[in-house]
Amino acid sequence: MYDAIIIGARCAGSPLGMLMARSGHRVLVVDRATFPSDALSTHAVTGDAPERIARWGLWETVTARTAPTQGTRFGVQGQVFDIPGVSVSPRRTVLDKILVDAAREAGAEVREGFSVSKLLRDDAGAVCGIEGRGSNGETVTERARIVIGADGRNSLVAKEVAPEEYNALPGITCGYYSYFEGYPHDNRIEVHFGDGLACFVFPTSDGQVCLGTEHRDSDWEALRADTEGEVARSFERLGLGEAYARAKRVEEWRGVLRPAGYFRKPFGPGWALVGDAGYLKDPILGQGINDAFRDAELLANALHAAWKGETPLEVALGGYQQARDGASGGVYALNHEFSKLAVTPGHVQMLIAGIEMMKQQAAAG
Ligand SMILES: Cc1cc2nc3c(=O)[nH]c(=O)nc-3n(C[C@H](O)[C@H](O)[C@H](O)COP(=O)(O)OP(=O)(O)OC[C@H]3O[C@@H](n4cnc5c(N)ncnc54)[C@H](O)[C@@H]3O)c2cc1C
Repeated sequence: MYDAIIIGARCAGSPLGMLMARSGHRVLVVDRATFPSDALSTHAVTGDAPERIARWGLWETVTARTAPTQGTRFGVQGQVFDIPGVSVSPRRTVLDKILVDAAREAGAEVREGFSVSKLLRDDAGAVCGIEGRGSNGETVTERARIVIGADGRNSLVAKEVAPEEYNALPGITCGYYSYFEGYPHDNRIEVHFGDGLACFVFPTSDGQVCLGTEHRDSDWEALRADTEGEVARSFERLGLGEAYARAKRVEEWRGVLRPAGYFRKPFGPGWALVGDAGYLKDPILGQGINDAFRDAELLANALHAAWKGETPLEVALGGYQQARDGASGGVYALNHEFSKLAVTPGHVQMLIAGIEMMKQQAAAG
């Protein structure tokens, strides 16, 4: 019997497992993937996430293969906004493996190649465990005081517990990205906006650069039919054509269509949700990793307070939901505005103010 079983071992699940194990709880983290493993996601880790990585003692490990980027540049309507501050953009093959190892090192039991097929329930209907298949193919059941879905946007936990969903937004964008060598950059994260278009430049692990574009979803067929040409023309349109022409693509294109948005009630009898499983948004502002880290910390603190007897569990988990929604609501709305791809300098100024506020909150712990 575990205190917690966490399904999903990436940006939400592994930090949660690490923090709970560090607080002395008995934790099992499972993921159907084996690490290192890539994810359909870019990896700009900005805002308050670098401070969190440092506070968790992982900054040196994260930056060993990925040079930190100095500042973020937004380009919009001929204006350039340079925001100081350290960020980092590690490949998910690199970042997620570090997070999994940190959870294991902290004392969590981590089972890779373990696919959960259903949740177990007690006589009162509360979730009390999981059934799944381990890497040797055998069916396994495990029990815990709480089962946590850190299992991403297609969360099995959310499907089974059917939580209340609110503030849902339809996906209205699409995009493609890949990895390049030789793109000239001055070691900062860059996002440039035009009408119906965003182009991004993320210097990443092992000297590569992640380049990509986001468009309105009506561009999907054209983008899919000629990704190479459309992305090149997009960089050209935003004045980055010369730099783009010097870069050599070294991996395949990855495409995403209509990423939606929602909040879900993140707890109920015997279960909780964290990361994309509980709160999702369009990737335009690259907030998902930051938010997953923050919410892993909030949920770990709530469960610890409850199990130490400081706060009733319902109250602690209600506080987790309130803190998550309070910290996310403004960014969620602004993120949706950006995803309409009609970005103005005023939007960027609002974003800069929001980033500053997040950093102050993170520094305050
Ligand atoms: C195109 C794109 C670009 C993005 N770019 C950025 C960016 O630049 N910066 C940023 O901060 N965010 C970005 N995001 C968002 C970011 O990828 C997510 O917010 C983040 O990965 C959420 O982490 P998570 O741990 O909640 O879920 P996930 O990363 O989805 O991990 C879920 C894990 O659960 C496991 N799992 C699921 N079901 C089961 C099961 N039944 N049994 C066992 N294991 C299971 C999966 O194998 C997976 O490993 C982007 C997203 C997209 C789509």
